[in-house]
Amino acid sequence: MNQAVEAAQQAFKSWSRTPKRERSDILMKLADEIEKHSDELIAAESKDNGKPKWLAQAVDIPRAPENFRFFATAILHFNSEIHEMDGQALNYTLRQPIGVAGCISPWNLPLYLLTWKVAPALAAGNTVVAKPSEVTPMTAFIFSKICQKAGLPKGILNIVHGTGEKVGDPLTRHPDVPIISFTGGTETGGKIASATAPLFKKLSLEMGGKNPNIIFSDAEFDNAVEMAVKASFSNQGQICLCGSRLFVQEDIYDKFKSDFLEKTRNLVVGDPRDNSSNLGAIVSKQHMEKILSKIEQARDEGGKVLTGGKRLQLDGELKNGYYIEPTIIEGLPADCQTNHEEIFGPVVSMIPFKSEEDVISMANSTRYGLSASIFTSDVSRAHRVASAIDSGIVWVNTWLLRDLRIPFGGMKSSGIGREGGFNSLQFFTESKNVCIKI
Ligand code: NDP
Repeated sequence: MNQAVEAAQQAFKSWSRTPKRERSDILMKLADEIEKHSDELIAAESKDNGKPKWLAQAVDIPRAPENFRFFATAILHFNSEIHEMDGQALNYTLRQPIGVAGCISPWNLPLYLLTWKVAPALAAGNTVVAKPSEVTPMTAFIFSKICQKAGLPKGILNIVHGTGEKVGDPLTRHPDVPIISFTGGTETGGKIASATAPLFKKLSLEMGGKNPNIIFSDAEFDNAVEMAVKASFSNQGQICLCGSRLFVQEDIYDKFKSDFLEKTRNLVVGDPRDNSSNLGAIVSKQHMEKILSKIEQARDEGGKVLTGGKRLQLDGELKNGYYIEPTIIEGLPADCQTNHEEIFGPVVSMIPFKSEEDVISMANSTRYGLSASIFTSDVSRAHRVASAIDSGIVWVNTWLLRDLRIPFGGMKSSGIGREGGFNSLQFFTESKNVCIKI
């Protein structure tokens, strides 16, 4: 890790002075090279993580070249401000690369989230030491080979494999790494915040969530049910944006529950290589056990498991795999542990509500504030509730519709700072104001 930081420091001297156009061309070429290796990356991501292959093909892997193309072009349009002082002086703000950026990413969307950090850091003229999750290192390893093949200048990107303790922690404490971008759990984010605070590092933290999915009785019913299934169980519920608390207005609760249950029971948990599998495996034994213990905790708290709730044993070579049935729980108050702690698995808790005020108060009652979805056909209500919910991202009548330009990130214990679009380029640069007297 120390050697990687040293190499990145050396490379920064030339990369930070490389014209933007040239940096952009190199990153665009890298995107092309990633695309050429799509099949290999898709197979590796699915095998390493357990996610269905079709999902890696539709979402994870295409996002890697997209991240590079997006930031390789964004940097060409990135500008800064001029403040003119009534003929007395002119202030202009430079936005300069900072140095070696430490990029730490999790296992749920391995290559997608690694490149989401590396691409803007490099586009802005920094060099990078990246630490992918040791739970799912494979696509990062293949990606490092692709970078060599694409002729990425030596030292600008250094991928160091190893655990959080052995590599992540020393990276955050390294005196020559002034900027850290982290995506992962809130507890880890807290450790990184304490390690970096005395060193005054620039820090971006994208952390956990306990996202509310709110269905009003005037919502377009079928769309709301379909989106609730996606928001609850996509990627086995292992997306930070998953809607793990499903609030449904009382007058449609029973009908919604019955349709939601039926659609959930029809989901196929199976071989990740098989296109007909809606859900694949949980990422690791340890994580599967954590999810199962959270389901037990829900039972202990008085929750009723409407469907699922158990480990699923598949046949043949998959019989020891870490599969969990999609699980719906109801009957728990909004303030119990199950409804406050992140589970990060295929588990959703249904909670009925009476009024707009009630649901806003319940939705805002956790320490998290990453994302929320609201389903309603009343435009005024959509604006009102969106404005009142404590979260960095609010979707209305949809879920996980992503535009790479938007500010992405959470409030409260879900994050500090925003990434995405020019927010990422601002984060990965330092602003310096120059005042010239006229
Ligand atoms: P972790 O916090 O366990 O790990 C994230 C990364 O941090 C891994 O690379 C890990 O290494 C590393 N790490 C662990 N300890 C330290 C440390 N002390 N210092 C520096 N780095 C460290 O999260 P998970 O990998 O379990 O990912 C799941 C979590 O990520 C969930 O809480 C989820 O909500 C959140 N997440 C948030 C997103 C967002 O955009 N807000 C998006 C996706 C996920 P290793 O595991 O290799 O030991």
